[in-house]
Amino acid sequence: MSKAIHQALRASWWLASRPRGPRCRDLGLSNAGLENRVFYRSAHSRATEYLQMHDPDLTDSQRTVREAVAKICSDFPDEYWAKQEESKKFPTQLYDALAKDGWLGICMPSKYGGSELGISEAAIMMQTISESGGGMTAASSVHMNIFGLEPVVKFGSEEQREKYLVPLIAGKERACFGVTEPNTGLDTLRLQTRAVRDGDDYLVTGSKIWISTAQNAQKILLLARTTPLEEVTKPSQGLSLFYTDLDPKVVEITEIPKMGRAAVDTNMLFYNDWRIPASDRIGAENEGFKMIMHGMNAERILIGAEALGLGYAALRRAAVYAGERTVFGRSIGKNQAIQHPLADSWMQLEAARLMIYQAAKMYDQGYQAGEYANAGKYLAAEAAFRACERAVMCHGGMGYAKEYHVERYLREVFIPRLAPVSREMICNYIGERVLGLPKSY
Ligand SMILES: Cc1cc2nc3c(=O)[nH]c(=O)nc-3n(C[C@H](O)[C@H](O)[C@H](O)COP(=O)(O)OP(=O)(O)OC[C@H]3O[C@@H](n4cnc5c(N)ncnc54)[C@H](O)[C@@H]3O)c2cc1C
Repeated sequence: MSKAIHQALRASWWLASRPRGPRCRDLGLSNAGLENRVFYRSAHSRATEYLQMHDPDLTDSQRTVREAVAKICSDFPDEYWAKQEESKKFPTQLYDALAKDGWLGICMPSKYGGSELGISEAAIMMQTISESGGGMTAASSVHMNIFGLEPVVKFGSEEQREKYLVPLIAGKERACFGVTEPNTGLDTLRLQTRAVRDGDDYLVTGSKIWISTAQNAQKILLLARTTPLEEVTKPSQGLSLFYTDLDPKVVEITEIPKMGRAAVDTNMLFYNDWRIPASDRIGAENEGFKMIMHGMNAERILIGAEALGLGYAALRRAAVYAGERTVFGRSIGKNQAIQHPLADSWMQLEAARLMIYQAAKMYDQGYQAGEYANAGKYLAAEAAFRACERAVMCHGGMGYAKEYHVERYLREVFIPRLAPVSREMICNYIGERVLGLPKSY
């Protein structure tokens, strides 16, 4: 566990062992101080100035994570994110700041430099990063580090874990996630990348699409078919997982121009007879799908938390603007047509938050969390979308100006609605798994 996180958690234990009282007072923030801050907020304030610390359902370690991560993020205000977006530059400064204090290994085993905290703490971390105004750009820059390498933790050999996890947690290597393919999309089991054994290597041919951070990553977690579909009894068989070098001299990496999150690249990948050492295969051959599924629920929880953060950031800006903007001689926030949709968004975000944190708790305690992880991600992304849209609308024309940042939030909030799994596929999942209805596709 990193020294910084260890110290923060020790402080949290000390707080927990004291007689209970309002937590914000323990953290040196009086309730009155918090209220005053909300009262005096200005339209250009940093989102992190209003992060609540006194939420009663946060555990002490969650509260500590939120406070420490918010502190780091307060050095990266909205203006920083607007600049990164405009220059299309990867936010290495935030990445390095989080790596320096050990946050990239929040869920990773302490043996390799991680902190071994749960998804409950990681969700708080990702919500806080996004909520600081960094949105999906900030969250996506570190997302893969947080839980993406779970298959390596669970199924890798000791040698692989040492080799791959240590530099990832230290922030020395970045990884990307290579699953989606242009011809098969959500029908992952039919992906067409073929890996054929050739001595001590595999020769890998095919393509991937939408691979985030591939321009900046040194490594890729890649899912490929090792046994043809015709030769397996179930399509989930015959896929293998590799964690290997991503060398742009071997793999053609072409950035996809996209709607938002310009600072964090997304790419098409083409490869032909790409030689991947067999020693880079994770776990048994043909068992890759099971391994990649392992981290899927956790990923949905984290994406849902990131969406929540963006929704709260938008809502906060909307409330500030509605309170300050005067038209027809009074604040626009006095109009119920402005005020009620914002109140409704707060309720939707809070309801989604409760479900996301319920899913995280279930995951950490070893319960099946599929339904809650999927539903939480769905609800959080939809609530965040509505909050972002309403934030733009309540700013009037200024909602369309980059200066107020809400247009950037709105462009980014489509990501958690679309990925890593669509709304429709979540409904399919709930229909089948929860309601027991027949498979519809
Ligand atoms: C910004 C961004 C970053 C991404 N990063 C990564 C990454 O790093 N790594 C990675 O592997 N992937 C990544 N993705 C890919 C993402 O996970 C996919 O876009 C997503 O899974 C949807 O796949 P698709 O785009 O091929 O949609 P398609 O499979 O083509 O589906 C299109 C539409 O049809 C609907 N549909 C399809 N089948 C059904 C059905 N049976 N029932 C109901 N509706 C259906 C879908 O819900 C969707 O609305 C990223 C995507 C985006 C936008």
